[in-house]
Amino acid sequence: MIAMLRAVLGVLLVMPGTLANAAAPAKAGTRLPTLTEWDFKGSGLVQFAAHGFALTSTTDAAVNHSVRQLLERHQSVFGFQTRVGFRVRMRLFGSYSDYTNATFSLFWTNDLDRRALAGRPFNVAGYYVPKAKEIVTWRQQMPGFLGTTLLHEAGHAIMDAHYDSIPMWLLEGSAEYFAYALHPPGELQQRMLRHRWTRLGEWQQAKSLPRLTELLNADPMGFRAIDPEKAYAASWSLFQLLVASDANRRMVVKLLTDRQGATRRSPPEDCSAQIENLYPGGLAKLDATWQAWIVRGTSVTNEVRKPGNRK
Ligand SMILES: [Zn+2]
Repeated sequence: MIAMLRAVLGVLLVMPGTLANAAAPAKAGTRLPTLTEWDFKGSGLVQFAAHGFALTSTTDAAVNHSVRQLLERHQSVFGFQTRVGFRVRMRLFGSYSDYTNATFSLFWTNDLDRRALAGRPFNVAGYYVPKAKEIVTWRQQMPGFLGTTLLHEAGHAIMDAHYDSIPMWLLEGSAEYFAYALHPPGELQQRMLRHRWTRLGEWQQAKSLPRLTELLNADPMGFRAIDPEKAYAASWSLFQLLVASDANRRMVVKLLTDRQGATRRSPPEDCSAQIENLYPGGLAKLDATWQAWIVRGTSVTNEVRKPGNRK
C-alpha cells in the first residue's frame, strides 16, 4: 500500500528519475517532432497539441470542463480577473517513448533539471514548462478526464499566467489543494489524503517538519532541498489552513498582491516578513495555529480509520 501510494505521489512531485536512457539522446531512428506553438488546436479554454494520435471530442470537452472549474476555483480564492486570451496548453504524446524523448531532448535540457533526477527513475506523469507555457504529458494520462497530477499542473499554468512572484509553498500548496478539492475525491484520493495527514502527524511528533520560516521563504532551490514528500504535504496543509477562513484567505490575496511588480533590483520582501506583518499575531501565532491544524487533521483521519467508521 505504502509502496503504491509512494508511486502515485511520486508523479505528483516533480521527481525526475532515471530511465536508463534518462539523459541519453533520443534513440537512433526515433524522429523527434518539431514542436511549435502552432501545434495547439482548439477553441476552448484548453488547447491541445496531440502527437501521434487523435484526441477524441469527448476527452476535449471533459478536460475543458475540469479546467474551467479549476480556473473558477482559483478566481474565487484569489479574486483575479482572467487574463484576456488566457488558454491552458497541453501537449500530449501518443507514446511513452516519444514523451520521454521529447522531455529530455527539448524540455529538461539544463543541468538543474537533470540534477533533479538524481539517479531516480523518471516517473513524472506530466509537468508544466513555464518558459513554453505548456503542460507536457502523454496519452495514457488522459483517459477521458484529468487526474490529480494534471490538475496540479493546470493549476501551475493558471497561477503562472496571473502572477509574477509566487512563493514556492504557495505555488505547490495551492496546486495540490485545488487538484484534490476539485472533484469529490475517489477512494484512492481519500486514501492518499489520509496517508498524507498521517505522515504530517508523524513528522510533527518527530519534530521533523520543515520550520515555518524555512518553508515560507524557500526559493525553488531551497524548496527542492527539503524532502519532497514533506515539502509538498506541509505546503498543502498550510494553504488549506489559510483558505479555510475568509480573513486568512484575504491575507493570502494581500500577500500575493504585494509581491507583484517586484524586479531583480527590488525583489519582494521575504514571505515570512510579510506574514509577520499581515497575520494577526504574526509568524509565531501562525506557526501555533498550523501545528494545531495538523493535530486536528491527523486526529480526524484516525477517527475515520477506526473499524466501523470507515465507509
Ligand atoms: Zn507542482
